[in-house]
Amino acid sequence: MENSNKAIFLDRDGVINVEVGYLSNPDDFKFTEGTIEALRILNEKGYLLIVITNQAGIARGYYNEEILTNIHNKMNTILKEHSVILDDIFYCPHHPEFTGSCDCRKPNPGMILKAKEKYDIDLNNSYMIGDTLNDIQTGIKAKCKTVLVLTGYGKEEQKKIGPFIPDLIFKNLKEFAKNILNQ
Ligand SMILES: [Mg+2]
Ligand SMILES: [Zn+2]
Repeated sequence: MENSNKAIFLDRDGVINVEVGYLSNPDDFKFTEGTIEALRILNEKGYLLIVITNQAGIARGYYNEEILTNIHNKMNTILKEHSVILDDIFYCPHHPEFTGSCDCRKPNPGMILKAKEKYDIDLNNSYMIGDTLNDIQTGIKAKCKTVLVLTGYGKEEQKKIGPFIPDLIFKNLKEFAKNILNQ
């Protein structure tokens, strides 16, 4: 059986929106520069756009799932105003110290594997994009191509590249989107 869909798996904080540390208020949600345009380019290129995000702030009690939904509704509303369709959002609300271990918390590939089943995704021709080496490790485990972006924690993380080496490194999501257009 051949899987036909290809996807861009996107870490959220530090990639799509500005990293603020446990974002817990929709008012603090701000897109990183060029991200809306980047997502539009990737949309047009035929990729599913799927957010894969650890939200341990829920396990820690910093915010609840209703607030997280409000944040995601704001994100989706703005994207729709710009004709960008985000196909899905998978989040892990757990943290081992508070809720025990789980399969979904990155660097486990559980959320990507769930998305693969739901959308019949060819992981080898899909990308995991993140601003941390934890995201890169997740992508490697799921057998995706991996991209480190230098927004969010990216610049700090780039200095620590060792066991987990991204396939590609870009300044931000927009630079990635523009480049993949030529591949
Ligand atoms: Mg991040
Ligand atoms: Zn989890």
